[in-house]
Amino acid sequence: MPRLTRSDCGEGTQRQLILPHVQAGVKLSNIRTILITHLHPDRTCVCVLIPDILGLTPLIFSMMGLSSAPGKDDRPRLELVGPLGLRAFLRTTLSITYATLNSCFVVHELLWPSQPAYPHHPSGSFIYTEEDIYLPPDVRGQTRTLPCMPPHANELPGRDIRMDESTGTWPQILQLGNVWISAAPITHRCPTVGYVFEEAPTASKSVSPRDLAILDSNAEALFDLYQIRHPRSLLSRVLKARETLTLPDGHVLVPPPLDRPGRKLCILGDTSDATAGLEDKGMLALARDADLLVHECTYAYMREKDVLAAPSPEHAQLLQQLLLAEGEAEPRALSRGHSVPRIAGSFAGLIRARHVVFNHFSARLPAPHTMSHAPLTSTDQLRPDARLAESEQWFHVMREIERQVTEFWHASLPEDVRAHMGDRRAVAAYDGLAYILPPLSP
Ligand SMILES: [Zn+2]
Repeated sequence: MPRLTRSDCGEGTQRQLILPHVQAGVKLSNIRTILITHLHPDRTCVCVLIPDILGLTPLIFSMMGLSSAPGKDDRPRLELVGPLGLRAFLRTTLSITYATLNSCFVVHELLWPSQPAYPHHPSGSFIYTEEDIYLPPDVRGQTRTLPCMPPHANELPGRDIRMDESTGTWPQILQLGNVWISAAPITHRCPTVGYVFEEAPTASKSVSPRDLAILDSNAEALFDLYQIRHPRSLLSRVLKARETLTLPDGHVLVPPPLDRPGRKLCILGDTSDATAGLEDKGMLALARDADLLVHECTYAYMREKDVLAAPSPEHAQLLQQLLLAEGEAEPRALSRGHSVPRIAGSFAGLIRARHVVFNHFSARLPAPHTMSHAPLTSTDQLRPDARLAESEQWFHVMREIERQVTEFWHASLPEDVRAHMGDRRAVAAYDGLAYILPPLSP
């Protein structure tokens, strides 16, 4: 699976990606794909990398290098995918900043059914009205005007990918290695998508020692007939190209069965309802049985029963002070297009997610100060510095939100799936968290 890094740190995206602590393992110049979930200026999401839309242009400068004469490739070095408006945004910001790049990029736009495509060479004006039922009611009826900009000197013509209305998704928009990327609409305050990554099944076994010995025993004949010096060089044709080979002595080498299921990841950006109100379509169907769901959880609060579940009255009091009041958090989340533990956990249960990581906390919920890269389960993982006491408080807050998300997640799982889940918890993300999803068993 290609390495995925999710980041939503606004203008600090670049800085964060190269911080030794975060260790995203990302060399900016190696990034080839950026997926944008929506075009809000606050915290827009991308995957294989996820920058803020306002941080996107400087990020591209760093990744591709500025040059006095534009690079002339016929293949893009960087592919960007995102909602309608991304092309106009990049053309405008690159043009206004006099930027020409060392290499070329391409922008593929995801179109809702009634949205017009933004042409490679637009002319006149580009005005349209948002009309789709897949959009939140307060977005429907809004008229948008995009600047009509010619293609940038480094820009190659991109695809206009219209939603498949029968599934309410943009299926298989991009393939990275053996992973297909699809998208579906999710509810936020503007046209927003989430992404699903599906790994193809693989073989858990290689060629058997017996077949290897047979291959070696054909060495002489392979050289005489085809001038093949190293018989084992044929293995890549069997294992990678999955060809069936008949050897000179009549033995047949068959590719091993693709018995290991691929992993499925669902990575969402800002949302207050990842189903987008679509039943059996959209993200609900696309993300079904995801091995990992990454869902936002911007706000949280203590219900009466959460207060009672706290280890001590002092602990409950601390959590109540730091979290919002009941009756305040959820209306605030919904009005801003964001989630609370109930929304994140219930969606995880609806799609029968096997693992859940949640992120995107409001500014009033800072992450504990840690040098760890694992999910935080103990205060021993916190950095013993001047901020330790403060970190401990935020550690307890994150643990409480984990408990709440987990409760809603498990409660909305079907009985048979819950039985296999045991005490697996949803995990609160922090900068530098590495969540390991091992290959599935055959
Ligand atoms: Zn947003």
